Amino acid sequence: MQINNRELFLKHIAQTSPSPMMLEIERAEGVYIYDTAGNKHLDFISGISVSSVGHAHPNVIKAIEAQIRKYAHIMVYGETIQAPILNYAQLLTSYLPSNLNTIYFVNSGSEATEGAMKLAKGYTSRSEIISFENAYHGSTQGALSIMGNEKLKTKYRPLLPDTRVITFNNEAHLSYITEKTAAVFVEPIRAECGIQIPNNNYLKKLQQRCKDTGTLLVCDEIQTGFGRTGTLFAFEQFDIVPDILLLGKAMGGGLPIGAFISDRKIMQTFSENPPLGHMTTFGGNAVSVASALAVLQTITQHRLFERAIIIEKILKEQLHHPKIKEVRVKGALCAIEFESTEINMRTIELCWKNGLIVDWFLFADNCMRIAPPLVISEEELQRGINIILNALSNLK
Ligand code: PMP
Repeated sequence: MQINNRELFLKHIAQTSPSPMMLEIERAEGVYIYDTAGNKHLDFISGISVSSVGHAHPNVIKAIEAQIRKYAHIMVYGETIQAPILNYAQLLTSYLPSNLNTIYFVNSGSEATEGAMKLAKGYTSRSEIISFENAYHGSTQGALSIMGNEKLKTKYRPLLPDTRVITFNNEAHLSYITEKTAAVFVEPIRAECGIQIPNNNYLKKLQQRCKDTGTLLVCDEIQTGFGRTGTLFAFEQFDIVPDILLLGKAMGGGLPIGAFISDRKIMQTFSENPPLGHMTTFGGNAVSVASALAVLQTITQHRLFERAIIIEKILKEQLHHPKIKEVRVKGALCAIEFESTEINMRTIELCWKNGLIVDWFLFADNCMRIAPPLVISEEELQRGINIILNALSNLK
């Protein structure tokens, strides 16, 4: 008897949740995902802030096709000179402050976190890493060690020693950053806690404390980067410059790639005493980087970060309903907070049934996540908002 795809999925694919979404995908284009039953779904989450230029963008497809015909993989990271990597590095660094001049390419956000943790420890000869309550920087063991939520960590202890979690926007906690601290990891706009925005010049004060103690400031822009919050990178909005910048997600336009970026003198840590301080086989894969270059060109040429500001304005204007407790939004990254997890989950389910893909936040399951592709039209955005508001009104 033939086994169907749902059964195959449950039988052979490692599961991470007792209730997976189980949408059977046919293809995706622009802001739409098409399932194998012929239904069309409006994508309001971009695969968790990945598809910022939309699905199957023609520039991305063209770049990938051209590169795969030339070569995909030649040698492990850092040995050969490859044009796609150089072109990308030149363009990306032209948009960054002068101290963010040296890029280490990896394959994912978690790897960017891991690499940056090692870099900070190696460069400062210190071991303590500080992060924030309800922060997510990845799921590998180093990144897990600095996760700001105990629930997902306990089973996997012992994790790294010398980590400390402090509270965001709490100035008194800045005194925990000392001459023993190698690095502080922070998202300038915090995502998985259900969107939190710094207040009262908090990030400037954090940067000053890091400077005073010789601690490296690491900005995790894996989720906020590439125009999502209204500027190419979120840190630009807060008059700070990180010592290390982490990138991932939207960077590759759907292909796996990440990066951590720093000053040449800091990055030198990996090439001396001993060399090979960090290694990767696929980091900076030529096809992924070619795709990333097409993404960066598309975002900057079309100024898609400005689209994020228009999306913010519309979300703020339109998202009003008696069942909504609060809306927190920065650019095209938005959390709708409800009184309870139950209201959120039931609303999300109704949205799914009505062709709108939304979900919740890892550490805020009473908040609905909205992070549409930046190329979404105003009409499509409005249609998605209407589906949410109708779902709320129809909630029994
Ligand atoms: N940092 C942040 C802020 C993230 O949102 C994520 C992914 N949700 C990561 C790191 C980890 O990235 P990846 O899943 O690509 O390893």
